[in-house]
Amino acid sequence: MLKDIPKLVSELNENDLIYILTFNRDSDNNFISYTEGIEMIVKYTNVPIYGSWDFYLNKGIVGGKITAGFLQGATAAKQALQFLKGEPIDNIDIILDGASEYMFDYHFLTRNNVNINELPKDSIIINRPEKFLEKYQSVLLNIFVSLFILVLAILYKAKQKESSMRANYTQRLESKVKERTIKLKEANQKLEWLSNIDGLTQIFNRRYFDTVLSQELLNHQKSKETLVLMICDIDYFKRYNDTYGHLAGDDCIKMVASILKAHCKKNTEIVARYGGEEFALIMPKTSHNEAKERAEAIRLSIADKALPHQSSDLGDFVSISIGVAVMNATKTTTIENIIGLADEALYKSKNSGRNKTTVKSN
Ligand code: GH3
Ligand code: MG
Ligand code: MG
Repeated sequence: MLKDIPKLVSELNENDLIYILTFNRDSDNNFISYTEGIEMIVKYTNVPIYGSWDFYLNKGIVGGKITAGFLQGATAAKQALQFLKGEPIDNIDIILDGASEYMFDYHFLTRNNVNINELPKDSIIINRPEKFLEKYQSVLLNIFVSLFILVLAILYKAKQKESSMRANYTQRLESKVKERTIKLKEANQKLEWLSNIDGLTQIFNRRYFDTVLSQELLNHQKSKETLVLMICDIDYFKRYNDTYGHLAGDDCIKMVASILKAHCKKNTEIVARYGGEEFALIMPKTSHNEAKERAEAIRLSIADKALPHQSSDLGDFVSISIGVAVMNATKTTTIENIIGLADEALYKSKNSGRNKTTVKSN
């Protein structure tokens, strides 16, 4: 009787099991559906229940060789169709095992301590929890790929930063080197300039004079133009120092130098301090007459300045004597020739009374 089932199953012990067949109606004609039937049994017992119909699976049975009603019907219909289409009956196989498979419910396998490894090979197990890796495979793959891309991006960024820093550093270094090179060049130019300048008078020194004279001598030989050298010497300067003192003597030398400098009008002309109180002017492409006029103009400028020189034999003012060498390019000229000729001319100016200009040509 249906009503006796709860009591019957609840009294089963741990060594028992239930094998459920199709069951719908008792002898009192009480009806129960397959689902209600299995649910009732499961409710009152913990013993394993095995069965062979698919409608009991997932309802409480452990499993078994399960027959699927739908599949069975479909297989039968297929055979019927074959037959209806005229297939000789002998050609149609008798299927004994085609619609059933070993199927088990994971919940009830574990509840009843059935070892999964002992199940028939190829058993289908429903309700089996997916293994972590299987379940999250795609998520994990996504995470892994994202992480990989992230790491690549970080590495790329770091590399970019490093190369941009390196480029910056190189750029800064290069501009520093450039800046230093310019400063060094300027310092060198200044040094070069200073090495050519006389400290007291700030006009060119003897060293520079020698260089320019050599160069102008070459130009003069090439161009066949005249070259003029003037040597100016302050008259009685020893006495000037003796009278006014050495510092005043320095000032006098500076004053004479600045007047001579003002007389260098062409940019090819230079004035240099040739010795203590002696100065030299180089005047390329200057004729004999022009040289004489320019020398006289210089001498008169100094005289006009009227710098007191009370111990001079020539009056009360500072004066200079000038020797001028005018070199014509028709003859071969050396440095010694030109300086010697200017010296000769100066000597003549001194010997003929000082405060004079003497011009000599080769
Ligand atoms: P002269 O008319 O014959 O040229 O007579 P001088 O006295 O000018 O000739 P000398 O060459 O005998 O004397 C030049 C003097 O110039 C001697 C020296 O003490 C002086 N002197 C040379 N250099 C400097 C200088 O830098 N500063 C000063 N204050 N005197 C100098
Ligand atoms: Mg002298
Ligand atoms: Mg002198």
